[in-house]
Amino acid sequence: ETTERAGSNRDLGLIDRKSMIHPFTPLRTFSDGETGGPVVVDRGSGAWIETADGRRLLDGFAGLYCVNIGYGRPEMAEAIAAQAGKLAYYHAYAGHTSEPAALLAERILEMAPANMRRVFFGLSGSDANDTQVKLVWFYNNILGRPTKKKIIARERGYHGATVMASSLTGMRFYHEGFDAPSGPVLHTTVPHHYWGAEPGMDEAGFVAKCVADLEALIAREGADTIAAFIGEPVLGTGGLIPPPAGYWPAIQAVLRRHDILLIADEVVCGFGRVGHNFGCDAYGIEPDLITVAKGLTSAYLPLSAAIVGERVWSVLEQSSDARGPFAHGYTYSAHPTCAAAGLANLDVIARENLIERVAEFAPQFQAAFQDAFAGHPHVGEVRGTGMLAAIEFVADRDSKRRFDLSEKIGARLSAAALEGGLITRSMPHGDILGFAPPLVIDTNDLDFMIEKTKSAIASVF
Ligand code: PLP
Repeated sequence: ETTERAGSNRDLGLIDRKSMIHPFTPLRTFSDGETGGPVVVDRGSGAWIETADGRRLLDGFAGLYCVNIGYGRPEMAEAIAAQAGKLAYYHAYAGHTSEPAALLAERILEMAPANMRRVFFGLSGSDANDTQVKLVWFYNNILGRPTKKKIIARERGYHGATVMASSLTGMRFYHEGFDAPSGPVLHTTVPHHYWGAEPGMDEAGFVAKCVADLEALIAREGADTIAAFIGEPVLGTGGLIPPPAGYWPAIQAVLRRHDILLIADEVVCGFGRVGHNFGCDAYGIEPDLITVAKGLTSAYLPLSAAIVGERVWSVLEQSSDARGPFAHGYTYSAHPTCAAAGLANLDVIARENLIERVAEFAPQFQAAFQDAFAGHPHVGEVRGTGMLAAIEFVADRDSKRRFDLSEKIGARLSAAALEGGLITRSMPHGDILGFAPPLVIDTNDLDFMIEKTKSAIASVF
């Protein structure tokens, strides 16, 4: 149909449904208006957003766990406008740079673990993970190891949606229907004690099982065919799963023994979400490469980075020029305006001590979820760390019987919470409600989250 191009009374919802394809949204039923929506989000301030029809909602998931400093920061708008007015864009090819890009790369290295040496900028977590894979392949080509190329990821790990990143992602719906190439990717055990431990197995026993599974995979494939292991310090989209105690040091020891690089996907954990600069700092992880995005700009503009550590950098630096210039990059790599947003965001984080604040607030945040929900007859597990929390629902606590998928428990719970004015995320894997609010929420906001979640649960069960 035709829609007017101007005028104040145009139906934005109709325009959207007839014009746009949305991520993770049914195609025809949305387009036809059967599923309702779109939800037109109009403005935001602190931890709250407002829809075009005037509903105020507490954003308990910070967008897609990315708006860490909260919405509506004037200092962000000012920094972005100032850079856009001065030099919105220039590319970074052939040695070009801009002041914000160079300063942001330096800042990232200052915050990162001591062995990190260089930063390659992209725009999304997915493209940064693609970069990491290309870097480890390039590294092994330079070292004359053309067969050492496979990447081990984990079941339920999430690494993005580009062709390579969705192959790394360990969730079947990212593969089914899309032919994401599985050839160079292997998946190993997800470190989730609740579901993965055998009856009576404690955390230490379960870590030993994860290690044995990894060893068996490496033995089956041959260490000389495996280039790298990629993992999120705390599993995010797969269910907000903190690692069991001792998991990372034990996994790392195996990787070292087999000369396998470690890529830490810090897209969610980086820049404060778990009360440290990086998730690596929380769990004693010593990665060779680190991926960051989301919290780097708090999503005011898109920006990601592949941070390259000494082990890989020293090889690239010494030997890659013989092959010509580094033949990887994007038009928008090191985009000056995005970099200015990154610098302004890290300034806010530093000025307001937001990372220390998460560390201080986390015990109260975690205890609130435990106290309110751990005893519920349909709650199998309440878990979390820093300002990440998840409630996993089961039909029967004792037998850990799951709800039938057709009951759509997670989706119904998050819809009920939304009715009450709270955004939570029904995680795509199982009946899990996820919480990852902006790092600036206060005690009143936390109380609101708990109360509205309680009401949602009471309305569904
Ligand atoms: N890696 C992790 C751990 C993520 O959580 C995400 C996004 O949620 C990505 C990568 C992909 O990032 P993007 O959606 O910016 O491509």
